[in-house]
Amino acid sequence: MTDLPFPDTFPPELREILVPDLSRGAMISASTVQKVRDQLGIDTESLMIRLLPVAAAYARVPLSGFHVGAIVLGSTTGNLYFGSNMEFSGHALSFSVHGEQSAINHAWQMGEQGLLALAVNAAPCGYCRQFMNELASAAHGFNILMRDGAGEDDFSYSTKPLSHYLPESFGPADLGMEGGLMSSQDQSLTIQSEDPLAQAALKAANASYAPYTGGHCGIAVAQSDGTIFTGRYGENAAYNPSFSPLESALALMNMRQPCQTPYAITAATLVEAEAPISQRSATEAVLSAIAPDVQLTYIKANTR
Ligand SMILES: [Zn+2]
Repeated sequence: MTDLPFPDTFPPELREILVPDLSRGAMISASTVQKVRDQLGIDTESLMIRLLPVAAAYARVPLSGFHVGAIVLGSTTGNLYFGSNMEFSGHALSFSVHGEQSAINHAWQMGEQGLLALAVNAAPCGYCRQFMNELASAAHGFNILMRDGAGEDDFSYSTKPLSHYLPESFGPADLGMEGGLMSSQDQSLTIQSEDPLAQAALKAANASYAPYTGGHCGIAVAQSDGTIFTGRYGENAAYNPSFSPLESALALMNMRQPCQTPYAITAATLVEAEAPISQRSATEAVLSAIAPDVQLTYIKANTR
């Protein structure tokens, strides 16, 4: 595979071990991580730091040109999941996806229920610090890894808990919530439609996280080749860093396809619980910017 975005200086022996995993999506399985440890003596955290330029290559940044790469270590399996930032021309900046959000969303949608560490190639912004504070793992002090070596071959890094970056924080516990983002959810929503896209959106809605408003919501988007990607709503105690279902789907799509695959959405279905908020109008607006010919199908779910 020559289309994987390795920097020229990336060691060929490491590349060889990683290519089979990365060809299937931007993640590395725990068994491959173990192979890297055994054969090359590189520990998990150093591997995460070395791979940040690969994650950053997935960034879609038509506005800033600033490529963020993030990699998380899942606590459920020990797999590594990549993430990158995304910007949308012609739309409000508030819809941008940050690299950390992308990596966390990737792990969450692939079944992880927590994180042990997150590596990122630039200091996490305030928005991401607040977003990460919603994670159930935040209460257990998961670590943020930042490369601090300046030279090309210097992969030294710092390890600090989220509480270092976000002292005196406001989070779920302040609103009386236990658990947090990525903890297992099943909302027991149902719909009449048996359409596969609607059913995929329902599954995402049932796994979504909306403890503050009950606005559980999921989306499924189909591509011209028939592939379906789903997105889950992820709410935040401070409201604004909440992650919309369409952002979640686009971020997943970006990391599960070859680097910089053009958007090719042909259909989209949103399933939403009855709640005092709605994702419908924001979803329609952003969808019109990236897939102007696609009409959003909207389904209100019933509670079982
Ligand atoms: Zn950020």
